[in-house]
Amino acid sequence: MVFIGPPGSGKGTQCERLSNHFGVPHISTGEMLRSLDSETGHAIHSSIDRGHFAPDDFIMQMIAQRLLADDCQRGYLLDGFPRTLVQAQAFDAILHQCSQQLDHVIHLVVDVAELVQRLTKRSQCGHRSDDSPEFIHERFELYEERTAPLLAHYEQQSLVRSVDGMRSEDAVFATINQFSC
Ligand code: AMP
Repeated sequence: MVFIGPPGSGKGTQCERLSNHFGVPHISTGEMLRSLDSETGHAIHSSIDRGHFAPDDFIMQMIAQRLLADDCQRGYLLDGFPRTLVQAQAFDAILHQCSQQLDHVIHLVVDVAELVQRLTKRSQCGHRSDDSPEFIHERFELYEERTAPLLAHYEQQSLVRSVDGMRSEDAVFATINQFSC
């Protein structure tokens, strides 16, 4: 499954629960980027802290390697990948090469006022340096410009399941869980 939704829509929370439930890995490219500890990693951190995306070729290298791991052979949940059309097309090619298919693309729908409230709360916890209120709106704009068009791409493959993400964590989880039955 692929999860698409703006920052704060609950992708990470739902993927974590589903990962425990189904016993398949939760792969978050954001988390992978945050844990990089190389010189390139530090350059990427300062860029994502300002709300920018990491380069497509870097993301593709990182994800292609991750998907080869043994724990991915029974399936996986992708949180925050793909985020651009270039990534989605490169990912289609990887799936094709491996004779794999996506089951669902979960689109989490949450209105902007609620997203701002969630991200402001998250920034007060201070876990993530990219949650700075200064750059929240840039991240929304980037989502609308670069990531939302992926929905049309996956609509063409009849994979998109839109889920009302304004509800409780449990209710959202129950809806997504139903798709998998
Ligand atoms: P996330 O944890 O998914 O919210 O990602 C945090 C930040 O990492 C994003 O705002 C982007 O700057 C960067 N990032 C995560 N995944 C990707 C991706 N697939 N492509 C480009 N940048 C990414």
